[in-house]
Amino acid sequence: MDDCIFCKLVAGEVPATVIYEDDDVIAFDDVNPQTPVHTLIIPKEHYHSLSDDVPPEILGKLFSKVPTVAKLKGVEESGYRIISNKGTDGRQTVFHLHIHILGGTTMPIGMGPAD
Ligand code: AMP
Ligand code: ZN
Repeated sequence: MDDCIFCKLVAGEVPATVIYEDDDVIAFDDVNPQTPVHTLIIPKEHYHSLSDDVPPEILGKLFSKVPTVAKLKGVEESGYRIISNKGTDGRQTVFHLHIHILGGTTMPIGMGPAD
């Protein structure tokens, strides 16, 4: 996808603080962190969201590397929260499937609607 910032990041065309990379996925720190640890993990291949007929093996590779990234970021013991925003109500802003890994602090109780 030519106009996708995360595809450009995968291609090395935009800078990133890369935490983990293999043939299928890459994890990098969020440019606008919401918590002390805020890292994104994405498939290298472009899928707009979980609704984009993502092959189960890609989903398996993506989710199974979350603990690896959490360990590299030092939050595997303390814990973390993962989020994948989808569409308008999910407030997705980058339309390349990604999982947020949030940690380094205690997350708020609840995940209810915006005020
Ligand atoms: P979402 O709202 O779930 O689509 O989240 C997209 C996330 O991508 C936001 O938290 C942004 O701060 C983050 N982001 C956007 N561009 C970059 C970039 N070039 N490098 C790292 N993170 C980015
Ligand atoms: Zn993309």
